[in-house]
Parts: sequence; C-alpha cells; structure tokens
Amino acid sequence: MTKTEIAISGGGHAGLITAILLAQKDMDVTLIEQGSLALSKELPEMSGRSVALMWESLEVVKQTGIWPEIEEFCAPLNTLRIMDGSESLSFDAEEAKLPYFGQNVPNGILRAALIKKAHSFKNIHFIDCCGLWDFEEKDGYMLLRLEDDRELTAQLLIAADGKNSMARQIAGIRTIKTGYGQTAITCLINHSRSHENISTEFHKPGGPFTLVPCPGNRSAVVWCEKDSVAEELMALKKSDFEQALQEKTQGIVGAITLETPPESWKLKGMLARKLVGHRLALIAEAAHAIHPIGAQGLNLSLRDIKALVALVARQKSLGLDLGSLTMLKEYKALRRGDTLTRFAGVAGFCAITSKKSKGIQRLRQTGMKVVNKSDFLRRQAMRIGLGMQGS
Ligand SMILES: Cc1cc2nc3c(=O)[nH]c(=O)nc-3n(C[C@H](O)[C@H](O)[C@H](O)COP(=O)(O)OP(=O)(O)OC[C@H]3O[C@@H](n4cnc5c(N)ncnc54)[C@H](O)[C@@H]3O)c2cc1C
Repeated sequence: MTKTEIAISGGGHAGLITAILLAQKDMDVTLIEQGSLALSKELPEMSGRSVALMWESLEVVKQTGIWPEIEEFCAPLNTLRIMDGSESLSFDAEEAKLPYFGQNVPNGILRAALIKKAHSFKNIHFIDCCGLWDFEEKDGYMLLRLEDDRELTAQLLIAADGKNSMARQIAGIRTIKTGYGQTAITCLINHSRSHENISTEFHKPGGPFTLVPCPGNRSAVVWCEKDSVAEELMALKKSDFEQALQEKTQGIVGAITLETPPESWKLKGMLARKLVGHRLALIAEAAHAIHPIGAQGLNLSLRDIKALVALVARQKSLGLDLGSLTMLKEYKALRRGDTLTRFAGVAGFCAITSKKSKGIQRLRQTGMKVVNKSDFLRRQAMRIGLGMQGS
C-alpha cells in the first residue's frame, strides 16, 4: 500500500498551490485528481475566465515560483472603480502605497503553469483521472480509497475538491447553501480604447457587471444576470451579444469585439459548517463558494492555504503529527471568522447591489458619497477589497 505524508484531493488551483508549497517544505505529498494533471508542452490560449488576485494572494502564488512564466499574460489592477448609476467610486493603488492592487490572472494559464511546476517536484506524487472515493481514520493515520479501489495512507487529508467536495461528504460535514438566482457570463473582449488598468464593477439591477483588464486592449468580462435573462443573452447571435456588451459598458472602453465565445456559470453560495474533521482539513471551494462580486473567491482560498501550510510546516519542523487535532483546531480558529464574514458579507452586498428599487439605489449612492469623502472609510474599503486580515 502506498504511504504518503499529506494527501490532497482535488488538483484545481487550490490543490496544486497547496501541493507545491508543502513540497517546498520537504513534505511527501500525493495529489489525487478526478480529471487529468497531464503536462502540456505549451501554455493554453487565453480564455474568458480569469481571477483577479489581490496583493497578498499574489504573494502566495509567487511563492510557488511560477510568476516569471505567467507574468506576461497577466495585467496589473492599478485602479478599482465601482459605478452605480451616475455615481462612481474609485480607489488608486498609490493611495494604498502599492504599485498595484493585484493582477488579473488567466485561469487556464495559471493552472497549466502550476501543473508544470508541480511535476518538477520529486516529492509530489500524482494520481490523476481517478477520484477519491472513501476514507476512514485508523490509529494514527488516514486510510484512503480511490475510485479504482487503490488504497493509500496519509497523516492528513486536505480536501481541495471543489464545491461538491466528496471528502466533505464522506466526513458527513453539512453545508449552508444559498442560491443567488444569478448566472455569470464570462468572455474575453477586445476594445478600441485602453482600459488604463482600471477594473470597473457596474452595479446593475440584475447583478454586477465587471470589466477586468487583460494585457493590451483586452478585458475579461464577468456579467452577472438573473438566470432567465442570462439564458436569453446566451442564446443571442455574436453581433447581438456584442451590441448588448456595448450598451452595458456605456462606451467606457470604446468599440467592443468578442475574442472568445461567452460561457455561463450558475452561481451558488456554499459554506461548510465545519472546516476540519479527524485528520481532515477543508480548504478553498471545498469549504466555501461565493458570488464573484468583489472577486473574493480564490483570494479567500489562498488565505486558507497560507494558514494551513504554515501550521503543517511547523508540525513537520518539530517532528509532530501532521494530522494532529490540536493543529486542525488552530487552523479552524484562524480561518473561521474570515470565511464566515466573507460568505455573509458577499451575500448581503450582492443582494443590496442587485436591488432594482430607486430608494435603495439612492441609499447606495449616498453611501458611496460618504465613503468618498472620508479617508478612514476609504482605507477600510480598500482593506476589505484587498482581503486584509482583520478588515
Ligand atoms: C465567474 C467567476 C469569476 C470568478 N472570479 C474570481 C476572481 O476574480 N477572483 C477570485 O479570487 N476568485 C474568482 N472566482 C472564484 C474562483 O474561480 C474559484 O474560487 C476557484 O477557481 C476554485 O478553485 P478550487 O481549486 O477551490 O476548486 P476547483 O477549481 O473546482 O477544483 C476542484 C478540483 O477537484 C477535482 N475533484 C472533484 N471531485 C474529486 C474527487 N472525488 N477526487 C479527486 N478530485 C476531485 C475537480 O476535478 C477539480 O479539478 C470566480 C468564480 C466565478 C464562477
């Protein structure tokens, strides 16, 4: 039977980053992924999906060593702007004494670079095209069973297997679910005017519409709408969809052409009621899935990863059990507040910004004016947007 120190189920962004950071700390890691983790010779083409990663999250990604390879495909976010009717609120990175707030990173390129990096470690073992099926805690270790009946043992299982996490279900951890009633449409667009590295979030009655800078005169679109409206938009022919984008962007980036076909993602929120079990830690979307408003999802996950990796590395350096309950309780204590407040905050923010009522829009606009005039509130808003601890 195969023996490993740490098993990670799920080789998405979260699982891969965790595997690399633990391997850098000399741990023996096995990454189990239902899909493929095959190396591709070249990085893929840019697609419509990207993640805006804020300053501290980017530091975690940079620690993996992939930054020099992906930097040219990413775009710095120098200004964050919110537009609500006639009111707008902008924050410049200079104000936060940063060169930029973060970078917009294309999903496919990020994942391909992480897979390549993970393959360069002798202490990362890959089990792909085969999912985790079951596990049980034994005396001092975890016995894992895979879909093809293979077995392996680990001191700790890290669940990074996404919002429908099998590991979470096997552990019997229940969840709080929220349907936002919205679908996100994503695509990559070309435009005649420069975006000037400004990320713009329009607050609209159906849901937020966001333009996130990409290299050159290109932007990634995240267009959230009520499910039924999104369905109608997805059925439009290319020229009509471009026209709809043109109206939505109010001309701020000039004439628009589609670079990639629109894709749609039904949005659902989920929060695991527990972050840990016996020899089990939940991270990323296995622990929490949230609406893309404010680009918080993977940023939140990277804070889980940073906290867990530091704790496991400490156990290793002291020669202690890597799956100890005391350590898992520390992880829970470190991450519970942040995940809970972001989950509730994002749901509340999404509900308020999507309200059609004129009265509520006036209230929002007054709120924006108040924030605009107060240095203290501006600093707090930036801390929240950047996902800083204690904000
Ligand atoms: C439209 C949209 C825009 C977004 N924009 C942003 C943004 O700007 N900034 C940001 O921070 N976040 C953003 N997010 C959130 C971000 O994309 C996600 O949080 C992130 O991609 C999830 O990564 P993950 O590794 O947790 O999960 P996943 O990518 O879902 O990975 C889970 C992996 O586990 C595997 N798996 C499943 N079951 C098993 C099993 N039984 N055994 C083994 N493996 C299994 C799956 O195959 C998958 O590879 C956005 C989300 C959406 C929908």
